[in-house]
Amino acid sequence: MTSVLQPEALEARIRDARLRPTRQRKLVLAALAAEPNDATAQGIHRRLHAEGHPVGLATVYRALAALSERGVVDALSHRPGETCYRLCSDEHHHHLVCSTCHRVVELPECELDPWVERMSARHGFLAEEHRLEISGVCSSCRN
Ligand SMILES: [Zn+2]
Ligand SMILES: [Zn+2]
Ligand SMILES: [Zn+2]
Repeated sequence: MTSVLQPEALEARIRDARLRPTRQRKLVLAALAAEPNDATAQGIHRRLHAEGHPVGLATVYRALAALSERGVVDALSHRPGETCYRLCSDEHHHHLVCSTCHRVVELPECELDPWVERMSARHGFLAEEHRLEISGVCSSCRN
């Protein structure tokens, strides 16, 4: 699912997360919205420069960190030593990630809750949230 959102919708996502919609955050989020798959801070930085927005790399890192901390964007960890980011739907979902081409598929309709609750109860945990990232190779990369 691609999520090319209008500027107003992007700004609303930032406000809904109770973050200030600064110019930098809006630019970074718009750049991420234009990516069909995930992107690194460096990739976003390159895209912004190519589009004529000379935003510093540290600023891009900070904006992405703030946006992912508040759940506006998802952080994916399939690439060792580097965080990839993606603007997804705001419903609960998980990810299939191709480790070759970085294609990301959103998996809605999570069925993990009963299992999470059973496992948590067994260990005296009160589960609050869970994440799941399945990495592998997509069909186009296997051909
Ligand atoms: Zn996601
Ligand atoms: Zn692939
Ligand atoms: Zn889930």
